[in-house]
Amino acid sequence: MFIGHFGLGLGAKKAAPTVSLGTLFMAVQFLDLLWPICLLLNVEHVAIHPELGGNRTFEFTSYPITHSLLMAIVWGIVFGGVYFLVKRNVRNSILLGLAVLSHWVLDLVVHFHDLPLYPGNSPLVGLGVWANPLLTNIIEGAMLVVGIILYLRTAHPRKVVFWVLIALLLLVQVSNMFGPAPSSVEAVGWAGQAQWLFVALAYWADRKVAPAAR
Ligand SMILES: [Zn+2]
Repeated sequence: MFIGHFGLGLGAKKAAPTVSLGTLFMAVQFLDLLWPICLLLNVEHVAIHPELGGNRTFEFTSYPITHSLLMAIVWGIVFGGVYFLVKRNVRNSILLGLAVLSHWVLDLVVHFHDLPLYPGNSPLVGLGVWANPLLTNIIEGAMLVVGIILYLRTAHPRKVVFWVLIALLLLVQVSNMFGPAPSSVEAVGWAGQAQWLFVALAYWADRKVAPAAR
């Protein structure tokens, strides 16, 4: 899943108007921000199958640090904890922790049986909606649209930056589906770093919500 996560991040603005969209994006996509780093450090592994294409290009052979349920909970606590230390807001900290965990739950819906419950010899889970690319895109597209509507009801972003950001997210979604498979695991790791651009653009697009809108 890709834009679905960002859709949830946009929609979360309604629940946490004082949290920047950049922080919300970092939370919902935190596991996928860590994953390319773990690939480059060679502590997690992926097999690339260019011949299968689309949702089956990647076989997630090992990613317990970023994508096990237990570690998703741990990362949620870490993320919410750091936010609390900086901002001292319990409610927003809990919401951000849950946003981190939401990534695993949403991945559970689409992934094939590759998500561990805990590091080690864990059973692997996944409901496999990816087997139906049309359904996957309908779900993710709907999440993005609902997220944009909820976000725009709460925030008044820098419009050009905001829509460039949305266009870039859609472009990545389309190229993930139809574009050529990456040439190596290293290429996946480096390409994944581009996601920080979405976080940066989200910080830029977002403006402080006026007190009246809270
Ligand atoms: Zn993921």
